[in-house]
Amino acid sequence: MAEDKGEGKEDYKLEANSELRFEVEAGATVQLELAEGKAEIFGTELTTNRKCTFLAGAKVAVYTWHGCHIKLSGRTDVAYISKDTPMTIYVNTHQALEQMRHIAEEHVTRGPRVLVVGPTDVGKSTLCHLLLNYAVACGHSPVFVDIDVGQNDIAIPGTLGAMVVERPADVEEGFSLTAPLVFHYGHNSPAQNPTLFNILVSKLGEIINTKCNEIKKSNYSGVIINTGGWVRGTGYDAIKHAAGAFEVDVVIVLDQERLYNELKRDMPGFVKVILLPKSGGVVERNRNIRTEFRDQKVREYFYGTRNSLFPHTFEVPFAEVKIFKIGAPSLPASCLPLGMKTGDNKTKVVPVTIGPTVQHHIMSISSASSVDHNILEANSLGFIIITGIDMEKQKFTVLSPSPRPLPKSILLMSDIQFMDIE
Ligand code: ATP
Repeated sequence: MAEDKGEGKEDYKLEANSELRFEVEAGATVQLELAEGKAEIFGTELTTNRKCTFLAGAKVAVYTWHGCHIKLSGRTDVAYISKDTPMTIYVNTHQALEQMRHIAEEHVTRGPRVLVVGPTDVGKSTLCHLLLNYAVACGHSPVFVDIDVGQNDIAIPGTLGAMVVERPADVEEGFSLTAPLVFHYGHNSPAQNPTLFNILVSKLGEIINTKCNEIKKSNYSGVIINTGGWVRGTGYDAIKHAAGAFEVDVVIVLDQERLYNELKRDMPGFVKVILLPKSGGVVERNRNIRTEFRDQKVREYFYGTRNSLFPHTFEVPFAEVKIFKIGAPSLPASCLPLGMKTGDNKTKVVPVTIGPTVQHHIMSISSASSVDHNILEANSLGFIIITGIDMEKQKFTVLSPSPRPLPKSILLMSDIQFMDIE
């Protein structure tokens, strides 16, 4: 396994069943070109002689089944070829799911519903990406659900989302996000409000069942669900809850035998629990890198992956909106009003007084029309950030993907903040 810190232009000749792994240095970009042969990046086939640009911090693996010639230019933190990859095992898993899809279509039943679980940094999102791309390449339209509230691939951090995937992901831009269904959760870990997290998972499960009953193709194609890395204690209970809510019949456990054995013990008999190895290429991310990734996701939401979007900035009078937060601080049972349980606090819709404390917080625009609606389970129409507050004029300034006015007046405040500085 040759390793180097690359600068400038590098040529890599890859043998069959090997992959070129590289990371883009901070503050740099790397251009990649497939000069000869066939290769793919996380299940998306590369086009010969098309130059793809990867941005700072990107961690990429170019895999080839039959050999290829790759050219890289730019500054990589690390770039090496590895022949030790679990790709054959992953493609076999895809083949098994493909068989389930064919049986579903033949018997007019449901396609595979797959929950991908495992600790942090084992390649869960990457495996989902791969399985979705392969399914689409076989002519299917699977539903992708992402309940990883820390590093969400569908919307911004602090949300849960679902969408139908109809095209392979673009190697630079990812999956095209047509009409995703997004729910506001408001924290970057399910541990901060497991009660709310489980309610939203159940809601998503319900909607997906309804949609799959309506859209036959998605029903046969199945559902692929990505989860976060919280697998102990309440996190384990949340995994079991998600398995039930999405009515999964396959659970893929990446890289943890203990979790695999626990799930084998606890899942109903009809659920296939499979243990898959993680790829040696998956890069571990420390707390700082995770925070940077989250910031990058929020920035991408407003500015696009390549700064191709132009968000709007405008003032909103305080009186035009109502801001709420979900969940009140826990009180000891003895201090709760009569008949109220400790868990009820976690789903309480609490009004937020507009003032300097709301600045920089991500706000989700709720689809609920009034406070009488079930705000908790209303999906998000989009997100804004409050970038400035004028207490005297009773107005605040927002960063918004679309021009004024805001489509609805109920905003849900996220714990997660974003400072709009380049
Ligand atoms: P999380 O803990 O956030 O749930 P995860 O288990 O979903 O993480 P991924 O996000 O899939 O892990 O992978 C972590 C990082 O490793 C990503 O940046 C991904 O692009 C990179 N990566 C995955 N597979 C490989 C590989 N074979 N070679 C190089 N980089 C890889």
